[in-house]
Amino acid sequence: MRKLGSGKLVIATHNAGKLKEISALLAPHGLDCISAGSLGLPEPPETGKSFVANALIKARAAAEASGLPALADDSGLSVAALDEKPGIYTADWAERQWFEGEPGRDWYMAMGKVEGLLQAKGPDTPRDAWFSCVLALAWPDGEHVVYEGRVDGTLTWPPRGEMGFGYDPVFVPQGRNLTFAEIPPEEKHAVSHRADAFAKLVADQFEA
Ligand code: IMP
Repeated sequence: MRKLGSGKLVIATHNAGKLKEISALLAPHGLDCISAGSLGLPEPPETGKSFVANALIKARAAAEASGLPALADDSGLSVAALDEKPGIYTADWAERQWFEGEPGRDWYMAMGKVEGLLQAKGPDTPRDAWFSCVLALAWPDGEHVVYEGRVDGTLTWPPRGEMGFGYDPVFVPQGRNLTFAEIPPEEKHAVSHRADAFAKLVADQFEA
């Protein structure tokens, strides 16, 4: 299996927060992370039908355009009783522009949509859900590898907690009574889907 070694790695994101978090995780392994945004690389449309497909689209596009290895991630929430929705549409369910005429994301609306669909299925509907994070690593010659992380839990209502982002206020990870938005970030980051995927990448790329 191809190894990254040290050197430059393009992080296929235009999100400054993600770049910072990923750079910090990979810096101890001698990687110099550069964002696709700072290289002026375009963001390809995420037309895949799975987290893996979308992460690969982003990583391959950045590797081909830059001539450097590239890392991309794709993540979201899947609800068992809703046929694993919102899944790859997790962020889209928070888009409010289509009905309020105002661009932006409304996470309360998105959590409410999930809850409304669950309640419509009846009071005994299982509330199992999981967050997924797929990391895709691609080289300019087309070789690639993916690492899949997951954290299981249940959905609660109403939302609780002020920390975190996205759907954190309704997600209670397995073995806890608190939502991800009530757990300090260090604790969330130790058990999250992203931590799981990164642990797999680090074990495979740097420790195997
Ligand atoms: P993307 O991978 O940046 O496309 O993000 C997908 C969406 O999944 C985000 O906008 C969040 O709404 C949701 N999401 C991903 N990870 C988390 C998490 O750790 N907590 C809450 N929501 C998350």
